[in-house]
Amino acid sequence: MFPQPIDHADRFDAIRRANRRRPATVVGAFDLTPHMRRIVLRELEPVSDRPAKPAEWIKLHVPWSGEGRKHGRAYTVRDRSNGRITIDMAMHDGLCASWARRARPGDRVEISGPRHGFRLAWPPDELLLGADETGLAAVATIVAGLPHDTRGKVWLEVPDERDVLPLDAPPSVAVRFLPRGAAEPGHLLMRAMRTAAITPTTAVWVAAERAAALELREHFEAALPPHQVVTSGYWRVPCREPAVHDPFPEHARPA
Ligand SMILES: Cc1cc2nc3c(=O)[nH]c(=O)nc-3n(C[C@H](O)[C@H](O)[C@H](O)COP(=O)(O)OP(=O)(O)OC[C@H]3O[C@@H](n4cnc5c(N)ncnc54)[C@H](O)[C@@H]3O)c2cc1C
Repeated sequence: MFPQPIDHADRFDAIRRANRRRPATVVGAFDLTPHMRRIVLRELEPVSDRPAKPAEWIKLHVPWSGEGRKHGRAYTVRDRSNGRITIDMAMHDGLCASWARRARPGDRVEISGPRHGFRLAWPPDELLLGADETGLAAVATIVAGLPHDTRGKVWLEVPDERDVLPLDAPPSVAVRFLPRGAAEPGHLLMRAMRTAAITPTTAVWVAAERAAALELREHFEAALPPHQVVTSGYWRVPCREPAVHDPFPEHARPA
C-alpha cells in the first residue's frame, strides 16, 4: 500500500490556510453588558462558511504600535454566518480588550484560525460546565448545541449581576451565575464546582483563569478518567512579585 501524499498535502494546506493572518473589518461593536462588548467582523478572505462548532475559537490580531509583531489573542466564535464572525470580549486593561472598547465599524484587524475548542466526546450524556466571563461565549455555544435530553449543570462567574446573560440551554441543564463582586477571580467558580455531585460518566469542561482551571482539573481528575475532564486556562492573573526579603534589615546592621 502506497502512502497517500495528496491527503497529507491537503491537510497541511488546510492548516496553513487557517493559520494565515487574514484581514477583517469591524461591522458592529456594542456593549452587551458593562463588562462585555460584542464585536462583529466581516472576513475579507473567509476560509469557512459553516456554523461555528462548540467552543471553536479564532485568534484576533489588533493594531499594535509596540516593538515586534504582537501575537494574537484567542476569542471564541460566538456565531459565524453570512461571512461574519461575532466575538464577545471581556473588558479589562489588556491590548485586545482596550482595542475593543474603542472599536467602531470600518476598523481593520487580522484574524487567524479557526481551531477546535470542545475536546470531549460529543454529545455528552451528563455535563458539568464552568467558566468565567472569558468562557461565557464558549459555554453559550456548547449548551446551544446539546441534545434536548442532556443533563447537566453550568456555573458562570461574571464580574457582577449586571453581566448575567440569557443562555439557550436544554431543560435539564441548570444554569447558575456567580457574580464575583470583590472576590478573587475563579474563587466562587472553584467553590461551586468542587461541591458538584458527579457520576462515573460525568464529563467536565472548564474555561477560566489559569489557577482556577488547574485546581479544578486536579479536583475532577482525582475522581474521573482524564478523557472526561477538559480544563483550560483562558487567561492568567500576572504573578505577583514576591516581597523582596532583605536579609540585612536596617535595624540589624552593625553601626
Ligand atoms: C481558547 C480561548 C478562547 C477564549 N475566548 C475568549 C472570549 O470569547 N472572550 C474573551 O473575553 N476572552 C476569551 N479568551 C481569553 C482572552 O484570550 C484573554 O483574556 C486575553 O489575554 C485577552 O487579551 P488582551 O490583549 O486583552 O490582554 P493581554 O495582553 O493578554 O493581557 C494584558 C493584561 O490583562 C490581563 N488580563 C487578560 N485577560 C483578562 C481578563 N479576562 N480579566 C482581567 N484581566 C485580564 C492579563 O493578566 C495581563 O495582565 C479566550 C482564551 C482562550 C485560550
